[in-house]
Amino acid sequence: MASITVNQLHKRFDDFVAVRNSSFSIEDGEFFVILGPSGCGKTTSLRMIAGLELPTSGEIKLGEDEVTYQRACHRDIAFMFQMFALYPHMNVRGNISFPLKCQGYKRRVVQEKVQEVARILRIEHLLDSKVSGLSSGDRQRVALGRAIIREPKAFLMDEPLGALDTEFRHLMTVELRELHNRMGATTVYVTHDQLEAMSMADRIMVMNHGVIEQVDSPQEIYNRPQTMFVAEFIGEPSMNFIRFKAPLAKGDSQIKLGSAEIAIPTLHESQGETEYALGARPDQIRLSDSSPLRGKVLSAEYFGSTQVVTLETLYGKLKARTESRIPATYGSQVGIEFNPEKLIIFNTESGNALKSDYMS
Ligand code: ATP
Repeated sequence: MASITVNQLHKRFDDFVAVRNSSFSIEDGEFFVILGPSGCGKTTSLRMIAGLELPTSGEIKLGEDEVTYQRACHRDIAFMFQMFALYPHMNVRGNISFPLKCQGYKRRVVQEKVQEVARILRIEHLLDSKVSGLSSGDRQRVALGRAIIREPKAFLMDEPLGALDTEFRHLMTVELRELHNRMGATTVYVTHDQLEAMSMADRIMVMNHGVIEQVDSPQEIYNRPQTMFVAEFIGEPSMNFIRFKAPLAKGDSQIKLGSAEIAIPTLHESQGETEYALGARPDQIRLSDSSPLRGKVLSAEYFGSTQVVTLETLYGKLKARTESRIPATYGSQVGIEFNPEKLIIFNTESGNALKSDYMS
């Protein structure tokens, strides 16, 4: 297995920039997810790492080796797409063993390796079955088997679960992560599904319009989004933004919304008078009778022990996640308070979070 280092990678299709000066490194054995909306440059980034697309400029290293312009077949990387193509005329054993047979491995070695891969994937009982009769999950496992039998330096996966239904997708998400834990292989996984990314990744790279917005652990991405885009893209419901104009200064530890004074983590920088947004995850909002910041309850969605309450306020709609026992009757007026520790102030023009006691 190997680390992957990407330095100032740039990809232009005629006048259109699909990936803009990307730099990031993936550690040996890491499960690294590239996440972002459709068209943000995820697949193009992955294809350049695989050698299926040549960069306009920049550098890619696999371990210590520079591979930027090396052909895909010389990179010792396994690639898995959403539409996993299996050879229909071969059984499961034939499909899994195919890459090794092509490389001229001895029959006995191939048999042993197929058995080992089938054991890891728990499909030993299917080895002599035709692939045409398999469920989509088993077909996926066979495709995985064909990828891992080569023991490549890294696995690159482009929305491999995209074609599966939701329930099965979740099952395969857990399986893929367990498989990764057992094998310790460097994995780069592309998805537009934040829940998939959050549940599988060691680290997530969030992209938008060909640019890297943030690379961090799922916990940091959720708790300390560096930009409004990341804050909004991650989390369900996503972060609330309350826009306000104010002359904020270094050392400030509260803001005013009308007559309500809201405590915030002390700011470490000064960005003058402009439009800001107070960012609050739904679980940072409390309902309280006494607060002068008021909202009208529009709905309360029940999720067992918690509920998501949608409130109409002077600053737009807010979503609060509270315990279900807190009363939230449709049409009632409630006070709104915030847990100050995790509040984030964003400059709405740049979209960037301001440094504070909470945001480093
Ligand atoms: P999706 O999840 O929809 O595949 P993505 O984030 O993987 O999105 P890419 O496939 O990397 O996005 O594409 C990024 C941008 O580059 C898109 O606007 C796409 O239309 C453009 N693009 C990709 N390949 C080419 C190509 N061969 N020629 C021209 N434009 C391309």
